[in-house]
Amino acid sequence: MNKVTLSATSFKPQASPATWLGVMGGGQLGRMFAHAAQAMGYKVAVLEPSSDCPAGHAADHLLCAHLLCASYTDAAALAELGEQCVAVTTEFENVPAQSLATLAVHSFVAPSADCVSVAQDRLIEKKFFADCAQKSGVMPAPHHAISSLADIDSIDEALLPGILKTARLGYDGKGQVRVTSRSEAKTAFENLQGVVCVLEKMLPLAYEISVLAARGADGEAVVYPIAENVHRDGILFTTTVPGPNVTADCAARAQAAALEIIGRLNYVGVLCIEFFVLRDGTLVVNEMAPRPHNSGHYTIDACITSQFAQQVRAMARLPLGDPRQHSPVVMLNILGDLWFANGSSTAVEPAWDQLLALPGANLHLYGKDDPRPGRKMGHVSFVAPTLAQAQDNLQAACRLLGLSA
Ligand code: ATP
Ligand code: MG
Repeated sequence: MNKVTLSATSFKPQASPATWLGVMGGGQLGRMFAHAAQAMGYKVAVLEPSSDCPAGHAADHLLCAHLLCASYTDAAALAELGEQCVAVTTEFENVPAQSLATLAVHSFVAPSADCVSVAQDRLIEKKFFADCAQKSGVMPAPHHAISSLADIDSIDEALLPGILKTARLGYDGKGQVRVTSRSEAKTAFENLQGVVCVLEKMLPLAYEISVLAARGADGEAVVYPIAENVHRDGILFTTTVPGPNVTADCAARAQAAALEIIGRLNYVGVLCIEFFVLRDGTLVVNEMAPRPHNSGHYTIDACITSQFAQQVRAMARLPLGDPRQHSPVVMLNILGDLWFANGSSTAVEPAWDQLLALPGANLHLYGKDDPRPGRKMGHVSFVAPTLAQAQDNLQAACRLLGLSA
């Protein structure tokens, strides 16, 4: 298929021939990206090794032809994706940066390989955050790089108790071990196969927040309202916006820091930055995701422009959309555990009809047919005229689904 030639300034949707956008990765974030792009009139190609994947099911109608089942580094598949698509984005941060660089020779790639590389390595990321701190006003947690047992001998005692995290490839709390002593840190490091790690001081968290920001190729940036996040077993459980604990001052500092960080990266696309708020009010920057984020799913139902529509606009070099929130919202993640909530050893579909009977409920399921504990199967958001009503509906949903609220 021939690539459509569009104006140098933007890749507008076009009826015929269609304008194609590409995404690296086939998970739920790619699926929701596809939905948003298609709603705006684009066709979507997905590059992903597995044919049975959430984004693959949502990719354009001619699914088999346009779901490129290939490895992320497959030269022929990258060439085909680049040939077909005017712009390419990513839905996961561990996409090989070299593949993005290869794609960038012929297509517009947003975010860039350089930006994604910073977010792929906790040590590079923390150094970048520290470099931004003078202007952002926000530091990362005290930490030390660990690449050998000897490094553990030389750490400052003040870093303990701490969390040993693999520098690369961690997610949903995987690749992390809490340690209280040097000997525990050594055992944990050995159990992590001696890969490069970062030992971070365990901080006294009051609550956790995240900030979504988006930046266009023209340098214009927008920032979304602050999301307050609750995790369970290392996985996001709920996101509430406005956050019940978030003060106006804290929100302003986090939003200003996010804008400083996204600008300094010269980033194009949607970026999510996670922060800790400590008991004394100090704001600490934790990590960033170079893509839409689970804690930003609330934007689909509660904001004028969702994080996925914003991703489309940024990569297509269109004007960014209004990030304003129109309704208070609570988002609840739906994990595979719910299918086994009654102690059953075989999967039982949760009562979606009853869930949808709750006021303001918006159900999003990702089309995964194999529920497993800890697997993200979908999410539900409750929008309401007041936050209290949204929270009441969340409580009702938890009772219905057999979750402790
Ligand atoms: P995800 O991909 O789900 O965001 P992750 O595996 O990348 O998670 P982090 O976000 O670094 O890992 O940490 C997971 C959770 O562990 C945090 O949300 C927070 O609750 C807790 N945590 C991480 N680092 C610290 C710290 N230094 N002090 C206290 N708690 C921490
Ligand atoms: Mg995190």
